[in-house]
Amino acid sequence: MSLVDLRSDTVTRPTPSMRRAMAEAEVGDDVYREDPTVNRLQARAAEIFDREAGLFVPSGSMGNHAAIKVHTHHGQEVICEERSHIYNYEMATMAAVSGCLARTVRGEDGILGWDDIAPALRAMTAERAGTGLISLENTCNIAGGAVTPVELAERVCDEAHARGVPVHLDGARIFNAATALGCTVGDLTRKFDSVMFCLSKGLGAPVGSVLVGSKEFIESARRVRKMLGGGMRQVGILAAAGLIALEESPARLPEDHENAQVLARGLAEIPGIRLDPAKVRTNIVIFDVQETGIESFEIARRLKEKDILANGISPATMRMVTHRDVDRAGCQRALQVMEGILAGERTRTAVAQ
Ligand SMILES: *Cc1c(COP(=O)(O)O)cnc(C)c1O
Repeated sequence: MSLVDLRSDTVTRPTPSMRRAMAEAEVGDDVYREDPTVNRLQARAAEIFDREAGLFVPSGSMGNHAAIKVHTHHGQEVICEERSHIYNYEMATMAAVSGCLARTVRGEDGILGWDDIAPALRAMTAERAGTGLISLENTCNIAGGAVTPVELAERVCDEAHARGVPVHLDGARIFNAATALGCTVGDLTRKFDSVMFCLSKGLGAPVGSVLVGSKEFIESARRVRKMLGGGMRQVGILAAAGLIALEESPARLPEDHENAQVLARGLAEIPGIRLDPAKVRTNIVIFDVQETGIESFEIARRLKEKDILANGISPATMRMVTHRDVDRAGCQRALQVMEGILAGERTRTAVAQ
């Protein structure tokens, strides 16, 4: 039986049409801006997001980091949610490279509104570093793929701009957010100063992310990309797959969201697992396993013995992510295996008592 890989939506393999496009891609040296396929991808991304320019970057982390570096200078603070990717999963780059201090705030379901942010905002004084940037994440990964509504994000941008503070969006899964809200990614991101989105997550490309913003911002980000070692050469072979992902994949995201619902509803019925399926609106299912009596990492190990892959994100919580390479039947099999493992554990502990 084939593996059901629910660890992340990064695990998808390129489709046959992506591989064909990669093989046939027209290329040139992108550091000289001469790769026609990269140029097409960047222009198309800018158009879709209604921006002046785009920049292809090797990873979402590099895209986020280029934005942070351009928007801030050393000794400033960056306000972000305490579960955010830029704070937890990017090797402390904002400190190591940009010399910034993360000022974390907790938002309900990972979503930050202006009322959460305002108390954390700092003007530079004799003893306080000023806020250089606010960064939001939509969808919020570790908060279970939660979606930030348009009005909430726009208010954050308006209030921040009124105080001269730029706002970046880590939109790794912004197409999932737009799918959940039934709007366009342009509608969702218009007021942000910069947006990073991933081609290599739900959109299914093998590699790459894109940063979009004003021409001036992208020119600066291009220099930071080079500084970080991300200036690539005949990289049209990757951009070719990215273009297909960008054009074709958003339309199939509802399927991933439906599969995540199947997982969420099934998991919620298993004794010991806690989650609210109504909160699962995109392709990420995060659930609490504390009452099962087994740590998440051990559950993941037992699932793996039965060819189901999922990640523990803390001893008490697990994450399952749906994507193009898992289908409904795979999700149902994951539920059956999970049920079996936890039922076995209940019997074992009942006998032991
Ligand atoms: C995956 C992800 C990124 C970027 O990750 P890379 O692995 O560097 O491409 C950024 N933000 C969020 C919320 C993510 O989930």
